[in-house]
Order: sequence, then C-alpha cells, then structure tokens
Amino acid sequence: MSAVPVLLDFRSDTRTAPDAAMRAALAGAEVGDDAYGDDPCVLRLEEAGARLLGKEAALFLPSSTMTNLVAVLAAAPHPGTRLLTGAHTHVARFEDAGMRRFARVEMVPLAQGDDGAPGPDALVAAVREGARDGRPQVLSLENTCMLHTGNALDLAALDRLAGLAREHGAGHVHLDGARLANAAVALGLPVEKLAAPADSVTFCLAKGLGAPVGSLLGADASFVDRARELRLQLGGTMHQSGVLAAAALEGLARLDRLADDHALAAALARALASVPGAEVAEPPHRTNIVTVRLPGVDAAELRHRLAEREVLVLPLDHGWVRFVVHREHRDAAVPVVARALAGAAGG
Ligand SMILES: *Cc1c(COP(=O)(O)O)cnc(C)c1O
Repeated sequence: MSAVPVLLDFRSDTRTAPDAAMRAALAGAEVGDDAYGDDPCVLRLEEAGARLLGKEAALFLPSSTMTNLVAVLAAAPHPGTRLLTGAHTHVARFEDAGMRRFARVEMVPLAQGDDGAPGPDALVAAVREGARDGRPQVLSLENTCMLHTGNALDLAALDRLAGLAREHGAGHVHLDGARLANAAVALGLPVEKLAAPADSVTFCLAKGLGAPVGSLLGADASFVDRARELRLQLGGTMHQSGVLAAAALEGLARLDRLADDHALAAALARALASVPGAEVAEPPHRTNIVTVRLPGVDAAELRHRLAEREVLVLPLDHGWVRFVVHREHRDAAVPVVARALAGAAGG
C-alpha cells in the first residue's frame, strides 16, 4: 500500500501534509507556553478563529473529536442529556462511544434527507419527545455532511433547523463544522454567517486547510472559558503549541483556495458520471467530496476493486464510496481515476 502515489489517494483531506510554507511558519514560530496563556501564536490563532467564526472567543484544541466532546460537555453538564444528531454524521458514527462514556449523553440519531440535513419533522418529533420528560437537549448539526455527499448546507437550512430545535425545547445548538470552510467557499458566504445559527462551532484546521494538527471551538466568552477548563481536565492543554498554531494560521490564510479543490472535485464527478454503470451523487452544493456507486456492488467490494487499481477511497453506508479531493491532487488524476472505475465496473 505504501507505493500508492498521493495522486490517487482520495481517502481524506486529513492526508494533506504540511507544505514548505507551513513548515517554514512552524520552524519560525515564536512560542510561549499555552498552559500559562502566553503562547503568542496560539493567542493570534484564537483571535483569528473568533473573528472567522463570528464568535466572542475561540479555543485551540488538538482534534475536532476533542472539540466536539468539549462542546457537548460544556453544553450538557448533566448526565442523561439527549444529544440529537444525524445518524450519518461523524458524531453519530465515530464519536458515539466517547460521547456516551465521557459526556454521559443519550445519543438520539436522526434520519438525514438527500441534502444531508436531519429532516425537520424527525427533528421536531425527537425534541418534543425529550421535552415531555423535561430532559436537557443538545442538537449537533454537521456542515459539510461528510458521510453523505459532502453537500454544503445553506444558511436557510441551518437557520430553520436551529430555530425549530430551540422552539421545541433544545437548550443548545452545536455545529460540527469540521469542513465549514468548504461550505463557506462553495456557497460564497463568509464562514461567520454559516456559524451564526449555532451557539458553538467546531472548525477543523487539519482537513483541506492542510495544517498538521488542530481544531478550533468558537462560542461566547463564558462558554469558551468552560471549554478551556474542560480541555485541561481531558489532557488537551498543550505547551509550545504555537508551532502548530503557526502552521494553522498559514492554512487559514489560504482558505479561499479551497475553491480549487471544489473545481477538481466537480471535474472528477463529471468524469466518473460518464463511466458506464457508475452512479455519481449530485448534491445541491458540491464541495470537495464525490460519492459514487456501482449498483449491485457493495461499498467494501468497490473499495477493494479500486484499491487493486491503486485508487484509494473510503466505503460509506448503502453501497457508496467517497472520494475526498484536496490540494495535493492534480487534474491529471481525473482520467486515471475514471479508467480505474471503468475497470472496477468490468469495462
Ligand atoms: C474529521 C471530522 C471530525 C474529526 O476530526 P479529527 O480532528 O480527526 O478528530 C469531526 N467531525 C467531522 C464532520 C469531521 O469531518
């Protein structure tokens, strides 16, 4: 597997390695000790993060998984709080055990529609059910929808869902915006607009933005103070983390360049759609993700057939596989991947 060129590794945009400019920023970073609150690069990153997300304050954490956990712990201090989220979100699929174990929430999975958002009727029914028992409730939305089609949920959808949840009794709306930068670029909106409907937001620095490590939590100042204490308790407080923050600042400076990844993903989607027998999902607002299936072939088998042709993807539920495009991919990969898919389809 080690011989597979990066050109054809479409498993995730977490696979972006720090490039020369990022390594230079990292090498030159002035550092302090963030446990003492005097690391200048971390302070700059948290200020930039708060501005970007349109929140009073932001906190730098080691991963988006920890950011989501800290947000839920800060929002839901009582065991038995109901955490409502789409059944095919990162939180429901990969963070469920940690959420139940450490935040002691009850997970309430919601069916997601074609756009990746929880259906409004299912959401209202679930919130009402919890409200009847007087249970505290947190809604976690995800944008973009990474196990779905990578669709960017637009502002109207986010506003409506957050509004319905609050109206029927949810006390807190969290947004897992690990790829919110992709959503903002795809929709042509500032990130802060898309974060506005949520009380707290997770923003990943290590996906398409290409930082080696890290995530931001944005929220109001008192929430971020609580989150800072929880981060310490979880062992997520770091010391000379300015080296990581410097790389992350470099990544933030190029946020607009995600448009290049989106253009390449669109080209890939067109090429794959022309492969006989292949079906390509058409989300309303495509970002850097392309999902594909061969009817009658399950996702694990399709992943295997593509891997035999040196194209790496991740299988999703219901027969789809996911390609994630990032800045290390080149146009030249498109016809190579289309040929591999044709081969996998038996063509
Ligand atoms: C990647 C991702 C995460 C987890 O990020 P890590 O930094 O790998 O922990 C959480 N939520 C979503 C939507 C993601 O895409």
